[in-house]
Amino acid sequence: MTQTPATTAAVKVLPKHARVLIIGGGILGCSVAYHLGKLGWRDIVLLEQGQLTCGTTWHAAGLVGQLHGSHASTEFAKYTVELLNTIEAETGQDPGYRESGSISIATNPERLAELKRKADFASLFDIEAHYLSSEEIERHWPLVNPEGVLGGIFMPRDGSANPIDLTMALAKGARQHEAQLLEGVQVQQVLVEGTCAVGVVTDQGTITAEVVVNCGGMWARALGQQHNVGVPLHACEHYYLVTEPIDALPRDLPVLRSYCDGTYFKEDAGKLLFGFAHHHAKPWATTGIPEPFSFESLPFIEDDVMDVIEMAMKRVPLLEQVGIRTFFNGPESYSYDGQFTLGTAPDLSNYFMLAGLNSTGIQTGPGAGRALAEWIVNGYPALDLSGMDPARCEPFQARDRYLQARCPETLVRTYAMHWPNYQRETARNIRRSPFLP
Ligand SMILES: Cc1cc2nc3c(=O)[nH]c(=O)nc-3n(C[C@H](O)[C@H](O)[C@H](O)COP(=O)(O)OP(=O)(O)OC[C@H]3O[C@@H](n4cnc5c(N)ncnc54)[C@H](O)[C@@H]3O)c2cc1C
Repeated sequence: MTQTPATTAAVKVLPKHARVLIIGGGILGCSVAYHLGKLGWRDIVLLEQGQLTCGTTWHAAGLVGQLHGSHASTEFAKYTVELLNTIEAETGQDPGYRESGSISIATNPERLAELKRKADFASLFDIEAHYLSSEEIERHWPLVNPEGVLGGIFMPRDGSANPIDLTMALAKGARQHEAQLLEGVQVQQVLVEGTCAVGVVTDQGTITAEVVVNCGGMWARALGQQHNVGVPLHACEHYYLVTEPIDALPRDLPVLRSYCDGTYFKEDAGKLLFGFAHHHAKPWATTGIPEPFSFESLPFIEDDVMDVIEMAMKRVPLLEQVGIRTFFNGPESYSYDGQFTLGTAPDLSNYFMLAGLNSTGIQTGPGAGRALAEWIVNGYPALDLSGMDPARCEPFQARDRYLQARCPETLVRTYAMHWPNYQRETARNIRRSPFLP
């Protein structure tokens, strides 16, 4: 299903040279361009093969939560909320942020312990988080079925943003800093001399560059493969649904995450948007991403998600009585280990990457883009990003067979308990001892 036709019109004048050449006009590419400009760098060129946001960004549900699995990603998301509250004054573009707060609930004691521990973790970052009893949860979220709910945490400064408006605000800010963001230009090849990236070849000419940044979303891995740069991600099918308008829906409902069911709920202009961490997930485009792929969605296969839809209906029984307006399935990049790919290519200088944000690109993208921009400008990262280092990826971990088996497990485990030292179940027995049968 195509929503908006891709822009393929040729750009009239392509610059010959850029200080930094960014590939990809999703939220991540625009964030890197904006932050490089803010840090005072000029001659920034971003190339987008379709239109800004046309890959994955346009269809995100827009949830913005500040607590994440690592120090770095939590710093990123905390900064995103700061930016969401200030970028309109700077650029004139409203990012559509609604600071509704969020509530995460637990239905088993282990999860409750984890949520309480997360609330403590939040205090390390000066992020506000309060414990709520099940009675308080019902008061804040009157539509919830309280059966089995033991308690939860409330984070008043979380909320939701409009992914397109936020990306356009970053793009506008980047342009205010003189960056050129060009649509309808496809990068065909990254140019390399010796072991150094020196520019790109596009469908409309060549641009030399001092630094090349791969923010190509689910296309980033294929771009990396041209030079044996491992970008360990694969697109997976990711669903959500949006109801018909609901008269009784309070407009100030916080985002609700029911971790044990793997479901989330967001008030969306008088409708309820709900989605989930799937019980079963599928890799998408296993033989390559079809071209063109711009503002596209994927077939909604009810049987693939019926079990989680039922969980959602159980948690919010009103869903059994309302019609569904939108059944959405779109591709998102997941990595094999749930970590981002952020940093430099291990064996190719002046080649940076930011991709594979595991369905958190809207909430962490502004912060992740700032971190990469600081790294480019200063020559080193401003915080410990070692968990996201592209060098962690072994060659086999950037190949189809491994990623198509392992990345869907990352999606399935989105809301899973974070047991220490938990080992993945898929794609096992790849490296075997020669002494074993
Ligand atoms: C159903 C769904 C719900 C989601 N909900 C949320 C949410 O609630 N909160 C959240 O934080 N995240 C959410 N996400 C995730 C979020 O949408 C992504 O993490 C984010 O949009 C990724 O941004 P990106 O810039 O990496 O990718 P993209 O938006 O895909 O951008 C990459 C761009 O690169 C361009 N490109 C690729 N190759 C080339 C080339 N060779 N030349 C020129 N251009 C090129 C593409 O056309 C594309 O526009 C959701 C995702 C899905 C699918």
